[in-house]
Amino acid sequence: MKILVINSGSSSLKFQVIDSETERVLAKGLCERIGIDGRFTYKTDTGVSLKEPVPMKDHKQAVHTILDTLSDPDKGVIGEFSEIDVVGHRLVHGGEKFTGSVVISEEVIHAMTECNDLAPLHNPANLVGVEACRELMPDTLMVGVFDTAFNQTMEPKAFLYGLPYKYYERHKIRRYGFHGISHKYVSRRAAQFMGQDPGRVKTIVCHLGNGASICAVKYGQVVDNSMGFTPLEGLVMGTRCGDVDAGALEYLAKKEDLDIKQIVAILNQESGVLGISKNFSSDFRELKDAEIKYHEKATLAREIFAYRVAKYVGSYAAAMNGVDNIVFTAGIGENDSDIREEICSYLEYLGITIDEVKNREQAEAVKISDGTSRVNVLVIKTNEELEIAREAAAVAEGLV
Ligand code: ADP
Repeated sequence: MKILVINSGSSSLKFQVIDSETERVLAKGLCERIGIDGRFTYKTDTGVSLKEPVPMKDHKQAVHTILDTLSDPDKGVIGEFSEIDVVGHRLVHGGEKFTGSVVISEEVIHAMTECNDLAPLHNPANLVGVEACRELMPDTLMVGVFDTAFNQTMEPKAFLYGLPYKYYERHKIRRYGFHGISHKYVSRRAAQFMGQDPGRVKTIVCHLGNGASICAVKYGQVVDNSMGFTPLEGLVMGTRCGDVDAGALEYLAKKEDLDIKQIVAILNQESGVLGISKNFSSDFRELKDAEIKYHEKATLAREIFAYRVAKYVGSYAAAMNGVDNIVFTAGIGENDSDIREEICSYLEYLGITIDEVKNREQAEAVKISDGTSRVNVLVIKTNEELEIAREAAAVAEGLV
C-alpha cells in the first residue's frame, strides 16, 4: 500500500509517501508559510529535490501542491492521486475517546473538535489538514493516529492529579501524556534491536527534543508519561518549564503584575533552558558551545536538564519495579553524547555502565551500554512518520 503521511500544523504541513510493504520513503517534503507567502520543499528517493516559493493561501492549496507534485510525470512518484491507498494523519489530542488509531469519519471529526479545548494550538491545525485532504481526495481512506492514544493505558493512579475528583469528572482534568507515536515506535524498535519480545520487557524512553518527555513502557503498555494535561509538565525543555510549584505562579503574578495568560506564555515560551540560560539559547548545540566558553548559565541549564531526566528515569524504574532498556531518542537524545553520559552518570546505582566509544557512534540504532551493564542503554532514531504509516496500513488492512 502507498500511504501518504500528513502532519499538519497551523502554518506548515509535513508529508511523506511510504510504501507500507517495503517501508521505503518514496517522497517527503514540507509546505511552510501557508497563508503567508508559501514555501515548498520536496525530495524523492529517485533523486528529485526541490526547494521553491509556491503561493499557498490555505491548507487546501498546500495539499493540492503536494498531490500535483507527487503525480507529476517528471518529479512525481505516483501516476495519479488514486494510487494513494490511505492517508495517515498525525493528530495530537484524542482526549480519553481514542485509545488507538481510527478511520476518520464525521463522528471522529466531531469528537476531535470536542477535544480542541484540550490542545488549542494543535488540534484545530490538525483538523484543517484533514479537511483539506478529504476535499481533494474524497474517495481515499483517512486514518487518524493520535499522539495521546499510546498513553491511554496509564492507570488512574498515574493519570490523576491530587485535585478534587470532581474536576476530572466535570472537565477531564488529568494527565494525558504526549509523544505517544514516538514512544511506541522507539520502545518496539529497541526490543526488536535487542532481540526481545516487547511484551516481556520494561523500557524507559527518553524523547529529548525541543519538547521532551519520558515514558515508562511495561510489557508493551504505557505505565506513565512525564507530560500531563498539556505538554508543559515534566522535564525542563527548550522553552517550557516542566514541573513547577503552582503556588509560585500566584506569587509571580502578584510580584510582576501578570495575568494568567501572560504567566502561561512565560511557562511555555520563555522558560526551560532558554530562560535558565538568560535567553542565551534553547538549542542544545549552542548551549554546548557556550559551555565550552564558560557561559555559566548555559552550563547550569544543561545540568538542570540532565538532572531532571535522571530523576524521572529513577522514578519510572521504581514505577515499573525495574527496567531492562533505557532508550534515548529525538534531536538531543540522538545527538548529544555528553548529555547522555551526564544522565547515565546518575544511574550507576541501577548497574548502568556506558561504553564511551559506542556512545559517540552515530547510527539508526546503537547500544551504548557495555557488556557488564545490568540495563541496556540504547540510542534509537525516532521515526514518527513510519509509525503513522504502519498504523494507517494496519487500520486499512483491518477493513478488508
Ligand atoms: P522537536 O521535534 O520537538 O522540534 P527535535 O527532536 O527536532 O525537536 O530536537 C530539537 C533539539 O535537538 C534542539 O534543541 C537541538 O538543539 C537539538 N539537537 C539537534 N542536533 C543536535 C546535536 N548535534 N547536538 C545537540 N543537540 C542537538
